[in-house]
Amino acid sequence: MKYLQKCQKCHKYGLQNPESKCRYCGGMLINPRPPKFSLVDKYGKYRLQYFKEEFDKKFK
Ligand SMILES: [Zn+2]
Repeated sequence: MKYLQKCQKCHKYGLQNPESKCRYCGGMLINPRPPKFSLVDKYGKYRLQYFKEEFDKKFK
C-alpha cells in the first residue's frame, strides 16, 4: 500500500500519485500530517523578513 494523501478541496483520501491530483474532484492532494520542517520553513521565511526589516530600521 502506498501513502495516503488528503484532498485539499473535498477532503477525501486518495493514493499518492505523480500529479498529486484528487481522482474525485481534481483538487490537490496534500499530506494529512505534513512534516514539521516544512512548517518551520514556512514561518522561518517570515521571521527572516522580520529580522531583516528590524535590522534595517536600527542600522540604516
Ligand atoms: Zn478532491
